[in-house]
Amino acid sequence: MGEPFPGYYSYKYHPWCQEVADSVAPFNSIMKAAQMGVTEVAINRAFYTIDVLKRDVLYVLPTTVNASDFSKARFKSALMQSEYLSNLFTDTNTVGLKQAGGVNLYIRGSRGDSNLKSVPVSTLILDEVDEMNQKQIWLALERLSGHIEKNVWALSTPTIPKYGIHKLFLQGTQEHWMFPCPHCGRITELIWPDCMEICGDCLEDPRCKESFLKCKECKHKLNHEEKPEFLKKGFWESTAAESNSDNRSFYVNQLNSFTVSPSEIVQAYFRGLLDEQAATEFHNSKLGLPYLGEGAQLTDEIIEQNIKNYSKQDNRPDAGGTRFITMGIDQGKWLHIVVMEWFITEPSRDLNAVAKGKLLWEGKILGAEFKCLDRLMYEWRVLACVIDADPEINEARRFAKRFPGYVYLCRYRRGPSGKEISNQADDTENQILIVDRTNWIDCALGRFHSQKISLPMDLSREYREHLKSLVRTYIKDESGNPQARYIDTGVADHFAHAQTYAEIGLPLAASITQNQPIEAFL
Ligand SMILES: [Zn+2]
Repeated sequence: MGEPFPGYYSYKYHPWCQEVADSVAPFNSIMKAAQMGVTEVAINRAFYTIDVLKRDVLYVLPTTVNASDFSKARFKSALMQSEYLSNLFTDTNTVGLKQAGGVNLYIRGSRGDSNLKSVPVSTLILDEVDEMNQKQIWLALERLSGHIEKNVWALSTPTIPKYGIHKLFLQGTQEHWMFPCPHCGRITELIWPDCMEICGDCLEDPRCKESFLKCKECKHKLNHEEKPEFLKKGFWESTAAESNSDNRSFYVNQLNSFTVSPSEIVQAYFRGLLDEQAATEFHNSKLGLPYLGEGAQLTDEIIEQNIKNYSKQDNRPDAGGTRFITMGIDQGKWLHIVVMEWFITEPSRDLNAVAKGKLLWEGKILGAEFKCLDRLMYEWRVLACVIDADPEINEARRFAKRFPGYVYLCRYRRGPSGKEISNQADDTENQILIVDRTNWIDCALGRFHSQKISLPMDLSREYREHLKSLVRTYIKDESGNPQARYIDTGVADHFAHAQTYAEIGLPLAASITQNQPIEAFL
């Protein structure tokens, strides 16, 4: 092993890892804080399966880039430090495939078209589950269920509740790392905030450094430096009401860590009091717990606050009027539609920030009935309509051709690009708007929090459920920087996207009526 604990691998600094490594359960999941030594367990497990059990292993990381980095860095360095391992592998030239005689180690990313299903293995290791394409994961797990000799290891720092690793954790034994207190002898565990004596009152306060751990039973101080002594007597204890030993799940946080001092944890806590990203980081990476920030998800209460005394059935706009109306359409089995009217009382460069919106109508029609959209365009006197480009791109194009200059196809793009809208011509010279997903969803849902939207009394139940299903969290990108992202929780969210498309229609409508480029209104 290299730094921070050079020399032969030992459980001295990660005593919680030993039983995890030795688990014989077919299914294991580990919900953990950052840097708890668990990835080493997964790597050791992969080598053990190949060397001793002589079985193939599929090691999955979030992206293809992660998989390639892992293959170059962690895998290679393990081989460089061990003559035994380097003799074991006969061919290591292919990035995603390492051969040890007749046995294979496959290293894959979960996103893109990596197709995990096609790799024939009975041992599956999922490293950083919460950053993975969840659909791929469930497909891979489903496929394994047919094997008799199966072995799954899923590990991750958590993100949001009941998602990814937290969802897996809840399905298992839910074991916590317990130990006898060296002072009172009672069996206890290190948890926040009960086991932390917080010194100082803010990040800048030098007294932070004096913060220390304590036993929550007897309140006696627990010395950080003495952790190897008292934690080596630790053991895993199930907290699940019903537990099935075939599905073990483990939880461990950084209060147990030898490399992270109590004051570092307290500083992370103070940082979290100042902004949501830091609060998310504190809960996920330090405490190893899922976390929902205050503005992370719409609630019934927030939706209710915006309901006003009018109906979706109220009179339609008159012909030749000057009302500012946009429509957003999300495609799929159904076309989910949102019609918005906008009110702008002050001129601004950023129209979406100042405009107040009124939801005139929401509803859905069958995906096969694109023609019905024409009637809605006339009925609502729509100035700008934004429609999801996929899956029926040809239908969407025909619709756009029937209303040149009024209907725009749109696709989401990920990445730190702000609110800009780029207008790209595709191979058939049709214009497609490419927009940043997180920013525009922020913008559309943000007005529910700031009460800059009015909703009708007869708002549908489906609309409410879809708007609540998008959850915002922070996921590390390939360079390790946290990026805000709305996670697909597997619950239908079509109206939330239709609402976002109607929001994107606002600067488009302004550019149409004022005959100016769209950039003038972003
Ligand atoms: Zn005690």
